Formats: sequence, structure tokens, C-alpha cells
Amino acid sequence: MAQGHGWEGAVLKLLRAKDFTFTVTGAEDVTAAYRRVRLTDGGMLAATGVHPTMWVRLWFDNAGRPHQRAYTLVDPDPAAGTFGLEFALHEGVASDWARGAKPGDTVEATVHGTGFTDPDPAPSHVFAVADAASLPALNSLLGAVGGAPATVWFEGERD
Ligand SMILES: Cc1cc2nc3c(=O)[nH]c(=O)nc-3n(C[C@H](O)[C@H](O)[C@H](O)COP(=O)(O)OP(=O)(O)OC[C@H]3O[C@@H](n4cnc5c(N)ncnc54)[C@H](O)[C@@H]3O)c2cc1C
Repeated sequence: MAQGHGWEGAVLKLLRAKDFTFTVTGAEDVTAAYRRVRLTDGGMLAATGVHPTMWVRLWFDNAGRPHQRAYTLVDPDPAAGTFGLEFALHEGVASDWARGAKPGDTVEATVHGTGFTDPDPAPSHVFAVADAASLPALNSLLGAVGGAPATVWFEGERD
């Protein structure tokens, strides 16, 4: 891989990052500013395993130049080899890709740097601060900490 991914891709290759190609199977607008895209994983989940708040580096085309941005997996299903991505939409290459995403579209991905350690001891109460871009990570985190009560400060649009 790394071919076509510039110096960032070259560094990630040296770090033994793994590369995959995802394929869009569907997409829907949750609100005017939030879009959910469903994908098949190109064998990623079987190769990497899965953990709470897992994120991937996606490679978008920016007028012929590589544009790498991070996105968090939503409802990853290793058995089916599928997951979702939820895009907080704004001005941007990744946002534009999500706006136009349709079944059959593909996007290249690199997995490196993601990780999660279960808190020990388990928290008796969770305090979290999030915005629309971190909503997928917040949801995943809350799912991972079990029944602990949570207080969330969330900044986002009302629509
Ligand atoms: C580990 C990790 C996981 C992430 N997971 C998700 C995810 O699941 N969903 C998600 O939507 N985002 C997620 N993000 C954030 C996402 O990577 C950035 O918002 C990214 O910059 C979007 O790329 P772009 O090409 O659309 O815009 P860019 O080209 O990076 O930026 C274009 C313009 O938009 C502005 N901008 C960038 N991000 C935002 C924003 N969130 N809100 C408003 N303006 C913005 C920039 O300041 C700039 O002016 C994650 C980031 C990290 C580090």
C-alpha cells in the first residue's frame, strides 16, 4: 500500500500499519448535518480484531493529493465484516465524500494508533465531553463501561 498516500502513507508503512479497502453498502442522512454510511470491511475486523472506540485512517482524494482523516467505527460486526461510519458534516473533503457516498463506492483505510484499555478499577461514574464528531466514540465508550452512571457534556446542533 502506501502507494499514492504520500509521506504519511510511507511513515505508516514503516510502522507496519495495515491497509484495507472498504466498500459502501448504503448511506442515509440522519439530520442535515449528520450522515451515516454503512460499509464492508475488506477483511479488516478479522485481521485486526475490534475494541471500543476503534478508529481508522481513511484516505480521500483531494484533487489528486492524499487527504487522511480519522473516523470511528460504529457497530462493528467481525462475523459479518461490516461496520458503520457517522460523519458530522461541515466544509471538508471527508465530509464531501460522505455527502456523495453511495453503494459500490470504495475508500482506502489504514489501521494504526487505535487502542483501548479497560479502566481498572471500573469507574463508578463516567464524565464525558463530546461534540458531533466524537459522538460515535462517545456511544462506543458508554457501551464499554457497562452500567456506570454517566454525565455527558455534549455540544451539537439541535436539528
Ligand atoms: C480518533 C478520531 C476519530 C474521529 N472520528 C470521527 C467520526 O467518527 N465522525 C466524524 O464526523 N469525525 C470524526 N473525527 C473528526 C474528523 O477526523 C475531522 O472532523 C476531520 O477534520 C474531517 O475531515 P474533512 O476533510 O471533512 O475536513 P478538513 O479538511 O479536515 O477541515 C475542513 C474545515 O472544516 C473544519 N472542521 C474540521 N472538523 C470539523 C468538525 N468536526 N466540525 C466543524 N468543523 C470542522 C476545519 O477546521 C476546516 O476549517 C475523528 C477524529 C479523530 C482524531
